[in-house]
Amino acid sequence: MVVYKASQVGASEYLVSYALHACDRRQATVLYVFPTDAHVSDFSSARFGPAIEASDYLDAIIVEGRQKAADTARPRGADRVTLKRVRDRFIYFRGGRVGKDGQAAQLKSIDADVLILDELDEMDPRAPVIARKRLGASRLAEERLVSTPTYPGRGIHAEWLESDQRERFIPCQACGERQVLTINHIVTEWDNLGRPVAWHGGPETAWAACQKCGRRLNPLAGGQWVATRPGREVVGYHLTRLCSPAADLLEIVQNLHTTDETKRREVYNQDLGEPYVPRGGRLTEEILDDCRRDYAHLPLPGEAPVMGVDVGKVLHVVIRGPRHPETGETPQRFAGEVDSFEELGRLMRRYNVRRAVMDALPETTKAREFQAAWPPGTVWLAYYVGQRTGTRRVEPAQWDGANGVVNLDRTRTLDRTMSRFYDRLNTLPAYARDLKDYYAHLTALVRVLEDGPDGQAVARYVETGPDHLAHAENYCTVAMSAPGPAAVATASRAVNLRI
Ligand SMILES: [Zn+2]
Repeated sequence: MVVYKASQVGASEYLVSYALHACDRRQATVLYVFPTDAHVSDFSSARFGPAIEASDYLDAIIVEGRQKAADTARPRGADRVTLKRVRDRFIYFRGGRVGKDGQAAQLKSIDADVLILDELDEMDPRAPVIARKRLGASRLAEERLVSTPTYPGRGIHAEWLESDQRERFIPCQACGERQVLTINHIVTEWDNLGRPVAWHGGPETAWAACQKCGRRLNPLAGGQWVATRPGREVVGYHLTRLCSPAADLLEIVQNLHTTDETKRREVYNQDLGEPYVPRGGRLTEEILDDCRRDYAHLPLPGEAPVMGVDVGKVLHVVIRGPRHPETGETPQRFAGEVDSFEELGRLMRRYNVRRAVMDALPETTKAREFQAAWPPGTVWLAYYVGQRTGTRRVEPAQWDGANGVVNLDRTRTLDRTMSRFYDRLNTLPAYARDLKDYYAHLTALVRVLEDGPDGQAVARYVETGPDHLAHAENYCTVAMSAPGPAAVATASRAVNLRI
């Protein structure tokens, strides 16, 4: 069975019940695989534990910590998290990590009857292949594959395409038409950047309307699962949050009102339970033209702007004024190159820059010296670090105050910066077309989908030409979200103490 789903629609609760039932009533051994060991301990304490505690019956059949050493070769401390004994059967919880050699020792030597693969799209794609071999000796040999999707044709979506594709059909109370609820039952008009312009009940509320008669649908009334590819061996369920009694449809519509590709993907994956088709990604000259406003590059008296610096043979610099309280626009005060760190210092003083983020590479020593010449928290050194899909729990910019370093998820921070141009919030001076290299650098970065090192799809920006000013803009966006002086003061005290 394939469960292709939005987040928080009850799939974990279903899997817990299914695993326990398999042990209790079907004399099955269960291998329950998560993407990582961290997922295992989270799940064991947050999902599995409470389910047991809530039931006297389950509590009575779980033999926890009482099994004899002969039952298992694993140490007892680890067992409490990664192994549950139900009557005389076991549920093995395992992370799906696969080593460089293609081996996964933690999945070996378990003979399972039931295999559960949870959050498949975050898993090393080699893990399911290894785990499936554990079913070889079983007469049951059942599989449950569950995940929120990521991209079309990947992971759970690919598995779903091979299944009988059961969708929930909702009958219209007015005309009787049965239909599968999608975002297009709610949103009636989109702009050309894919943002909702008009929707049923808008702008104060949002509801789904019948595609045939236009009357309001009740997503909870009399729905029915129907296989749209009947007769296939694998059963597939598609669970969207649009049918969930807990769903806030207005919030889902509002969450789509962004041009940030990372955020759009989250709404599609987590709320709608749909794979996301990334927008072909590069800024155009038309969008940049649209960002032009009637001002020129100059320091503004009394203003304390932020700065981004891309370090190379020369230093590419962008300076932007503070966010306008009503429009959210950030005016560009400077965009260009300087030849040396000395000149950069003069530029900073001239513009009264309060916060700067600069490339730590390749001139780390010079960048460190430059940083040391300013009060703590003024200049931050930035590193682009590796990123994976499904990292929404971690902020795209990680501030390390003690070291004056900020670690950046390259794709996600660039998504944020590009979105400020799509939304016409990063404004440009009237003569922006004449700025040396500016348009060329900003349109040189193209957002593409690539195969990551372990086969997962990864969105990346690739450069099709020199792109230094685009990264200077990105560092500048990061500088806008730098932590306040209080946090920095604490961090610098910590440094002093250590000295
Ligand atoms: Zn109808």
